[in-house]
Amino acid sequence: MKLLEGKTAIITGASKGIGKGIAEVFARHGANVAFTYLSSVEQAQAFEKELSKLGTIVKGYRSDASDYTAAEKLIEEVLKDFGAVDILINNAGITKDNLLMRMTEDDFDAVMRINLKSIFNTTKAIQRTFLKQRKGSIINISSVVGVKGNAGQSNYAASKAGMIGFTKSVALELGSRYIRCNAVAPGFIETEMTGKLDEKTVQGWREAIPLKRGGSPEDVANACLFLASDLSSYITGQTLQVDGGMLT
Ligand code: NAP
Repeated sequence: MKLLEGKTAIITGASKGIGKGIAEVFARHGANVAFTYLSSVEQAQAFEKELSKLGTIVKGYRSDASDYTAAEKLIEEVLKDFGAVDILINNAGITKDNLLMRMTEDDFDAVMRINLKSIFNTTKAIQRTFLKQRKGSIINISSVVGVKGNAGQSNYAASKAGMIGFTKSVALELGSRYIRCNAVAPGFIETEMTGKLDEKTVQGWREAIPLKRGGSPEDVANACLFLASDLSSYITGQTLQVDGGMLT
């Protein structure tokens, strides 16, 4: 059964990793996909071509998630190209890890701008459309680090915890118009990025997870699929942890 037949989703930061995984699962479930990227231009163009083969409309947009005006322009263009938007996935994010003692102001600001302010930008820009159509599902990709905190990631944890507060507030504000807003909090997800880490260290992390493995982009994507589809039509304001039991 295709759960997103005829729906259109905007996914930020889908040139690789988790965003790419979400775009694949959504297209397989019949969704048209508008996705963004910033620096991985060739990867994004190749992905657009590849994903289009599944038969739905797919288009990549180079758009900086931290830029307010760019977000307005993005939503305008997507509406022009696709005619409608039903789902917004705020996935674009970065890390600039360091102990507080060594963290620079620039590193703090960049993480807050790209991870947290970005969701204000896109949500604000799509709000009018969702209000008019009296439906919409917004999903913010937070992190277990936003729930629990993590030494060496005070900037990242603050941004991800902020996303959860934003999610709950938007759910409260827009619930009466049938617009839902939820967060997904992944644990340790194995992507190209984590593939570069020392295998022994990674194995230690896997052992510490109750389900004894790192997650895949598809694991996160399947949670998003549920929250984007009508299967979750009575769920809003929640944070769904996709972490193999890590924070239990
Ligand atoms: P990733 O592989 O580094 O991918 C990040 C994506 O975000 C890329 O497509 C990148 O595009 C895009 N991006 C970065 N800055 C951007 C900007 N300013 N404007 C637009 N796009 C931007 O990371 P990931 O592991 O898939 O993580 C995706 C999300 O999940 C992030 O929000 C992250 O915090 C969260 N998360 C990840 C994990 C994990 O274990 N991997 C765990 C918990 C939460 P370009 O390369 O084109 O710039």
